[in-house]
Amino acid sequence: MAGKPKTPCPDDVHPRTAAVHHGTRRSQYGEMSEAIFMTQGFVYDSAEQAEARFLESGPDEFIYARYGNPTSRMFEDRMSALEGTEDAFATASGMAAVNGALFSICAPGDHVVAARALFGSCIYVLDLLAKFGVEVTYVDGTDLDQWAGAIRQGTRAVFFESVSNPGLEVTDIKAVAELAHAAGAMVVVDNVFATPVFSRAVELGADVVVYSATKHIDGGGRALAGVICGTRDFIRKTVEPYVKHTGGAISPFHSWIMLNGLTTMDLRVRAQADTADKVARAMQGNPHLSRVVYPGLADHPQHELAMRQMGAGGTMIALEVAGGKDDAFAALNRLRIVKISNNLGDAKSIVTHPATTTHQRLSDEAKATLGISPGLLRLSIGLEDPRDLIADLTQALAG
Ligand SMILES: *Cc1c(COP(=O)(O)O)cnc(C)c1O
Repeated sequence: MAGKPKTPCPDDVHPRTAAVHHGTRRSQYGEMSEAIFMTQGFVYDSAEQAEARFLESGPDEFIYARYGNPTSRMFEDRMSALEGTEDAFATASGMAAVNGALFSICAPGDHVVAARALFGSCIYVLDLLAKFGVEVTYVDGTDLDQWAGAIRQGTRAVFFESVSNPGLEVTDIKAVAELAHAAGAMVVVDNVFATPVFSRAVELGADVVVYSATKHIDGGGRALAGVICGTRDFIRKTVEPYVKHTGGAISPFHSWIMLNGLTTMDLRVRAQADTADKVARAMQGNPHLSRVVYPGLADHPQHELAMRQMGAGGTMIALEVAGGKDDAFAALNRLRIVKISNNLGDAKSIVTHPATTTHQRLSDEAKATLGISPGLLRLSIGLEDPRDLIADLTQALAG
């Protein structure tokens, strides 16, 4: 068993420093940039060494890229430093992370409580758990009485998006974690909209934090990736066996993209959130909009919670076009800078019409419950000049 790998970064630095340096492992060549170890396997000095490594491998000893890879390990170490967990496991996508966290925790007969306002694919994973004998209870994530009513002694886990997609409802991590822990349940948070920059999820009581790294961590819309952050025991004994045997491994090349994304993430996400705040304020009072939903605005139902929990409103805005679907589509088709797409957290601003794209599969009733009206637009704010974004949205809405 090898000792702790040398990382050229002290443990007690601030997140921006950790995001640049933490987890870097230099080869014998002393390369400055993180190396891409584009290898599926590793060569052993002897049969005895191979045997020993399969019995127990140390933190910088590798067997097979589906189990772990030096470039991916750098990304995992950097993420766990940022999130404040002991360890992390990187996956091929955000959904591989959600699937990996929930399926590795649950067994038939277990009970899970989840917030209703979830990304469509997360609902698919919960339906799959139900198919395999896990009982799933849905609650309104913003209503603590519903959480208290649904969580019972022996509940295995609770799962929610700390800020929901696309309605931007904010769930009180600390309050839900207190209820969950009193019943012995694990708290699993999908923290994509909060981003690692504004995350205090672990400090507030989350046991497991999952990210789609495809979003703000990449920040350039280049590659799919995900990561599960948690205690060393949970990551290595529960998550790793599940993900490594079921094939959700990340590519070393994608880990390298994410490592590079992390070095600029703090600057990007703060700039994007500042711009989102400006855009949301500029959209308030626009006669073509019936609603402007942004956690940073005082009229957001969980504004104070959002500020306490994240210290910022985030990079996402929801706008409801008063004239419904036709006017919403007309506005989308007039945009000159903001792109019609369905990623988020990108340097390029992106607008999505959830009712007909990301949330198309939901019934009209489910859409209505989640506030996904025919006029709703989800806006992901990028790195453009806020004045250009405000002008573009204003002209597109005015028609
Ligand atoms: C995008 C997203 C996911 C899934 O991530 P992929 O990288 O696309 O697999 C999960 N949860 C939330 C909240 C997301 O926005």
